[in-house]
Amino acid sequence: MSELKNLVAIKDWFPEFSSDKLLIAGPCSAETENQVLQTAKEISDKTNIAVFRVGIWKPRTRPGSFEGVGEIGLNWLKKVKEQTNLKTAVEVATPEHIKLAVENDVDILWIGARTVSNPFSVQLLADELKNYDIPILIKNSLNPDIELWQGAIERIYSSGIRKIAAIHRGFYPFEKTNLRNIPKWEIPIELKTRFHNLPIIGDPSHIAGDSSLVADIAQKALDINFDGLMIETHINPKEALSDAKQQLTPNELAGLLQNIIFRSSSDLSEQHLDLLRENIDSIDKQMLELLAKRMTTVEKIGEYKKENNIAVFQLRRWEHIIRSRKEFGENMGLSEEFIKKILQLVHKESIAKQNNVMNKK
Ligand code: PEP
Ligand code: MN
Repeated sequence: MSELKNLVAIKDWFPEFSSDKLLIAGPCSAETENQVLQTAKEISDKTNIAVFRVGIWKPRTRPGSFEGVGEIGLNWLKKVKEQTNLKTAVEVATPEHIKLAVENDVDILWIGARTVSNPFSVQLLADELKNYDIPILIKNSLNPDIELWQGAIERIYSSGIRKIAAIHRGFYPFEKTNLRNIPKWEIPIELKTRFHNLPIIGDPSHIAGDSSLVADIAQKALDINFDGLMIETHINPKEALSDAKQQLTPNELAGLLQNIIFRSSSDLSEQHLDLLRENIDSIDKQMLELLAKRMTTVEKIGEYKKENNIAVFQLRRWEHIIRSRKEFGENMGLSEEFIKKILQLVHKESIAKQNNVMNKK
């Protein structure tokens, strides 16, 4: 375990803060003054959320989608602060955004997944941040590369910022699943293992992509002892101009927060065990997904062999598999015997699959 020296604990970010759990909610995007103020008021009246989030500069995959209201949204956020006790947070992607947000009294800035994926952009932000002392939340990059995430955190840390938290928003899925972004819990867990004093906030909204799945993922994040949640909340999600499917109403948010269980256990060894088990769960799932993928590919090869009248079992190929995998596996510390046993099993199943293909009329 290592640590980022002198990180400020969440409860010391602002005099009004007293909890080390950071609860953030608000719309994906600011759309109108009324939408922003109504959402903020309801969140403030109905929940114990501390920070109101909203995107005013929206990174969209393709031009032409709603790209945010821009600077005018900063005035609306000022009003949120006048009319509620909420702190405010916006996404920043350029040094200019940082300047404008700070000039307009935004309390917390976050760096979005697309920006974190580009070290040049992160460095530009870090250079600008040398001039400020403001909490920065750093989302994971789109692709499941912990080094990119860590790199962004280190760049921001190097600029002198000491109020830092990571946000886990899941990773771009290369296959269709019921979630918008794959959580790959082992990655934030590994980040926590590398920097045990770095708070990690869960963003179940962007992982889920669907409001009905947000609560379960939020609970999961707390179960592995995340340090807070960021939940997209909109006064009228159906009409939202971005991420309409995943946003909760303030009432739904209040319900979620009432039902969710914050772990009180501070038994570190128990937490550690839980983290490791989560890790195993996730790895096993990926292992099975890969095996399933292997079998699909094996069947494709079977079809090719059938069409071209090639025998299912090819000795030379099998010898090559054993040799190359053994070498590869041994380099990673797996025993020769174990590798051989697994390969035999996988090979047996593969041959059976191809025989099925062959025997199909
Ligand atoms: C967002 O928070 O609305 C957002 C754009 O998120 P991400 O950067 O995680 O895609
Ligand atoms: Mn969003």
